Amino acid sequence: MMDSRISGIGMTSARTRERLVQRLMEQGVKLPAVLERIRNVPRHLFVDEALASRAYEDTALPIGFGQTISQPYIVARMTEALLDGGPRENVLEVGTGCGYQTAVLSSLVTKLYTIERIEPLLARAKSRLKELGIKNVKFRHGDGFEGWKSHAPYDGILVAAAPMTVPDALLKQLAVGGRLVMPVGGEGKQELLRITRREQGYEKEKLGVVSFVPLQAGVIAAS
Ligand code: SAH
Repeated sequence: MMDSRISGIGMTSARTRERLVQRLMEQGVKLPAVLERIRNVPRHLFVDEALASRAYEDTALPIGFGQTISQPYIVARMTEALLDGGPRENVLEVGTGCGYQTAVLSSLVTKLYTIERIEPLLARAKSRLKELGIKNVKFRHGDGFEGWKSHAPYDGILVAAAPMTVPDALLKQLAVGGRLVMPVGGEGKQELLRITRREQGYEKEKLGVVSFVPLQAGVIAAS
C-alpha cells in the first residue's frame, strides 16, 4: 500500500488533486503528460504542514526565505511551453525553490540539472525528491545568472524567477533548437518568454503576463 502521507487524505487526496487538474484543463493546459504529472506529484509535501490543506488550490504559497512555491497553473504552463515541441533530454532549471517544479519536470525529461541560490531551500528540495524516489536530478547551490556550464548545451532551460533582462550565459548554454522559458521584467510587469535558439540567432515568443519573485545575483549559504 502507498504511504498515506505521500498519497494524501482529505484536502490532499486524489479527488482534490483531480479538481485542480480539471481547472488547469479549463484554463487551456493540454499536454496529457503534464496534466498526469500534476495529478501524481504530491504538492502537499512541498509546503509546510500548516499549509498542506491549501496545496491543491491554484495559488502560490510561502516556502520561507521570502520565496514562494509557484502556482500550479504557472508550473503546468511553463512545463508545457518547454515540452510541446517534442521531448527534451538535457534540461536546466534555475530556481529550485521547494522542488515542486523540479519534481513535475523530472520524469518528463531525461536529465535535469537544477540550481538554487538559497542553500537551505536546496537541501530541503533535495531530500523531498529523494523521498519520492526521483533519481535523474542533479542539484547545485549557485547563482543561476551563470547557468551551469559543465553540462551545457541544454535543449531546455526553465527559469522560475524574473531578471530584468535575459542573462547572456543562459542564451549561450542553449543548444540549437533548444528552448528557454522564463519571466522577464520588474515586479508586477513581467512577461513570460519562450526563446528558441536557431542556427542563426534567437526567436522570441511572448506567452503572457506573469508574476514571479525576482532573480537575484549571489548566493545565501546555510548559517
Ligand atoms: N519552482 C519553484 C519556484 C521557487 S521561487 C517552486 O515551485 O518552489 C524562485 C526561486 O528562485 C527561489 O527559491 C529563489 O531563491 C530562486 N532564485 C532567485 N534568484 C536565483 C538565482 N540567481 N539563482 C538560483 N536561484 C535563484
